[in-house]
Amino acid sequence: MSKRTLADLPAAALDGKRALVRVDFNVPLKDGAVADDSRIRAALPTINYLREKGARVVLLSHLGRPKGGPDPAYSLQQIRRDVERLIGTPVEFIPDPAAGVAASKRLPRGGVALVENTRFWPGEEQNDPRLARTFVALGDFYVNDAFGSAHRAHASTEAVAHLLKPAVAGFLMEKELRFLGDALTDPKRPFVAVLGGAKISGKIDVIEALLPRCDEILIGGAMACTFFAALGLEVGTSLVERDKTELARALLAKGGRKLILPRGAVVAPGLDRAAERQEVASDEIPATWAVFDIDQATQNDFRARLLRARTIVWNGPMGVFETPPFDAGTRAVAAALVEAGDKGAVTVVGGGDSAAAVAGLEPKLSHVSTGGGASLEFLEGKPLPGVAALEDT
Ligand code: ADP
Ligand code: MG
Repeated sequence: MSKRTLADLPAAALDGKRALVRVDFNVPLKDGAVADDSRIRAALPTINYLREKGARVVLLSHLGRPKGGPDPAYSLQQIRRDVERLIGTPVEFIPDPAAGVAASKRLPRGGVALVENTRFWPGEEQNDPRLARTFVALGDFYVNDAFGSAHRAHASTEAVAHLLKPAVAGFLMEKELRFLGDALTDPKRPFVAVLGGAKISGKIDVIEALLPRCDEILIGGAMACTFFAALGLEVGTSLVERDKTELARALLAKGGRKLILPRGAVVAPGLDRAAERQEVASDEIPATWAVFDIDQATQNDFRARLLRARTIVWNGPMGVFETPPFDAGTRAVAAALVEAGDKGAVTVVGGGDSAAAVAGLEPKLSHVSTGGGASLEFLEGKPLPGVAALEDT
């Protein structure tokens, strides 16, 4: 990768210096408590490294979507205790970045401070350099470890990187760029992508970008139904985007034999009538039923194809995985990725729901991206502003 990283900075550039670190602590909350701390844990390699090297660490993050000003419902105070527990040291809270310079300078070597939600301050989402200068005053150099926010040009992700140097990628950012980047630019072949999820509309650019790069694209999820409709097949009451069938037809023409559609589906009269579910071939979907998963024949077919692959990128569940038993196809694909990984394939999972679907399997996969939207935009081949603004090697 062509971006300078934290590992490129010499010890003298870290020791005693204030590291302004943009992290993605946009964690799900439930009743004011952190419901899933994986995003905080994902930033630990960078934070721990900086502390070991004697840096003073000032953390910046957004949380949720506050509407134009401070709002206790989105205060990072709510996650401070979890950050302390995971880092293993007290964390100083900076409630207002404009008044935080003294606090940042008071930090001991290895000390950590957390700045209140970046989206509380006017200018964050407008990428305003004035707000960026407020952030800049809190650090001596800049580290961006917030891959999940890198597709947004915001003051704390983009403008700040132009104003505070060195501006380098943290270890999580580096890992994300390495796995997603290698898959796109230098994949070990065969390179097989699995795409699913609810809608084809959000994934068109991903399909377009992956088609010339992949050897095969396996299609599942409701998205497959739009392709079925494009082929003139009955899709019943399945989730279909009728206005996208023309586009699906064009993709099928362009993709040729690379686009692999499900052989059959698990259908039911409704999500709440799983007991009546049946497996049918793709051209036998009943007119009053809906597709909720890929069938066993498709699971077998996809597994065989995945076991031949040496690089696999997966985005989008194969069915309504939140509602068992319609999680079977998604679980089967997850198991096939693990199996392919055991045989040496690089296995990468991107997307918010997809990451949730493989929860617990992370150690058995090469990489599970922490960035939902960011990983999709990256796979579309779009430059990520938060990455582009960092220094090149
Ligand atoms: P990601 O967040 O990983 O990018 P998406 O948001 O595109 O994934 O899609 C996930 C959603 O797709 C899930 O909520 C799942 O229930 C839904 N989905 C998958 N298959 C179907 C289907 N056959 N019918 C309805 N919804 C489906
Ligand atoms: Mg999603």
